[in-house]
Amino acid sequence: MAAAARAAFGVRHVARGIGRLANVVLVKGQGSYVWTNEGRKMLDFTSGIGVVNLGHCHPKVTEAAQSQLSTLVHAQANIAMHEPMLSLIDHLKPVMPDPSLDTFFLWNSGAEAVEASIKLARMATGRQNIIVMQGSYHGRTIGTMALTKSKTIYGAGFAPFMPGVFAAPFPYCTQCAVAGASNGKHGFDNCCMDPVHELQVLLKQQTTPKDTAAILIEPVLGEGGYVVPPPGFLAAVRKICDEQGILLILDEVQSGFGRTGRYFAAEHWGVRPDIMVMAKGIANGLPLSGIVSRKELMDRQNPGSMGGTYGGNAVACAAGVACAQVMREEKVLDNVAARSKQLLDTLNALKSSPKTGHLIKDIRGLGLMIGLEFNSPTFPTLTPQANVPAGVASKVQAKCLEKDLLTLTTSIYETIRFIPPLTVSEEEMRIGCEILTQAVEDVAR
Ligand code: PMP
Repeated sequence: MAAAARAAFGVRHVARGIGRLANVVLVKGQGSYVWTNEGRKMLDFTSGIGVVNLGHCHPKVTEAAQSQLSTLVHAQANIAMHEPMLSLIDHLKPVMPDPSLDTFFLWNSGAEAVEASIKLARMATGRQNIIVMQGSYHGRTIGTMALTKSKTIYGAGFAPFMPGVFAAPFPYCTQCAVAGASNGKHGFDNCCMDPVHELQVLLKQQTTPKDTAAILIEPVLGEGGYVVPPPGFLAAVRKICDEQGILLILDEVQSGFGRTGRYFAAEHWGVRPDIMVMAKGIANGLPLSGIVSRKELMDRQNPGSMGGTYGGNAVACAAGVACAQVMREEKVLDNVAARSKQLLDTLNALKSSPKTGHLIKDIRGLGLMIGLEFNSPTFPTLTPQANVPAGVASKVQAKCLEKDLLTLTTSIYETIRFIPPLTVSEEEMRIGCEILTQAVEDVAR
C-alpha cells in the first residue's frame, strides 16, 4: 500500500509534461534489471533510453565515481582544467572514428551538446542555416526543438523556434519498398525517392550552400524509427559537404559508444564527421555529453563563448574513463555482436511464424539498436492490410510490461525498439526474447 501511495504521490507532483511508460517507482538497478518499490524485478531493454550501455550500476563505473566524489566533485571548466576531464580525453581520442577529431568540449546533456555543435558550425563557417533530416531527434530544448523532426508532439504549442532550419528526407527505404516504388538511381534501389537528389534540390530551392553552415544527421535514425540508411548515403552527403564547404555534424548521442556494434556508427560507412556529438553511453548514466571536432575549427571560437557551470563535471568524467576501460577490458563489442544475432534470430522467427508473421513489416538495425516494425492500417497507401489491427507496437509493449520486460516504441511508425544494455547476458536475452514472443503471440490472437 505504501508503495502504491508513493507512485500516486509521483503522479500528482511530477510534471505531467514528462510522458511515462510505467507509473512505477524504481529503487534499484543492477546489470540488465531494475527493481520497483513493490519488489517487482524488471528486465530493462530500454537502458534508460540507451544510456546504461554497461548495465545499471556497473561496479567499475560506480567505484570510479565514488572515488572521485571524495576527491574533487566540481572543478568549474571556465576556472581551471581538471584531471578526470583530461583523462577522459586521453581515453576517447583513440576511439574516435577519425584521427582529425581531437579537440573536445564537454557538456551535460545531449541537447546541450547538439546546440554546442550548431554554435561551432555557425562560428566556424560564418554561415547560419542548418539542414536536418526528416524523422530526426536532437533534443527538447527551445534550440533543439527546431532541429527535431520525429514527431509533432515534441514541438506542439512551444513555437516559435530557431529560424534557419531546413529538413531533407531521410531514406527510409522500407516504406518505399512496401509501396512497391523504386527509382533505382544512385544505388537506392528500393527507394521511391533519391535522398541525395532531394538534398541537392533543397540546396538549390531553399537554402543556398553559401548560407548553409551544416548538415546535421543521426547516422542511424533514433527516435525517428531506428532506420539504417542505405550504404552510400552518408558518403554521398559527405561529398556534398566537401564540395560546398558545408560541415557534416553526426549526432551519435544514441548510436555511439558501442550501441551499433562499432564504437561509433560512422565507422560502418567510413564517414568522417567535421563535428561529432556524444552523450548517453559516454558515462553510463552520469550526466555528461560533448562535441569533438578538429582543432582548426574549434579554435575559431572566441575564448569565453562556450561553457556553463556544470559542463564536463569531474565525477561524470571519472565515470566516463571507467566506461572506456570496461568497453575494452570486457570486450563489450564482441557481446553486442553475439546478442544482436540472438535477438535478430527471434525477430526473424516471429516474422516467419504463421501465428505472428502477418503483423510484422520490417526488422532492421545494427548491433543492439534494433527496430521491429509492425504493419499498420494507418498508413493505408503503403500497407493496405485489411487484417491488421491498429496500435500493435503499443499493445506489444504493454504486454511486455505486464510480463516485466521494459521496451520502448519509436516515432510515428508502429515500431518497438530494442536497446538493452550492451552487457546483456545470453540468458537475459533469452528471457527477453521469450517474453517478447509471448507478447506478440498474445496480440496476434
Ligand atoms: N540526439 C539524439 C540522437 C538523441 O537520441 C537524444 C536523446 N534521446 C538527444 C540528442 C538529446 O539528448 P538529451 O536527452 O540528453 O538532451
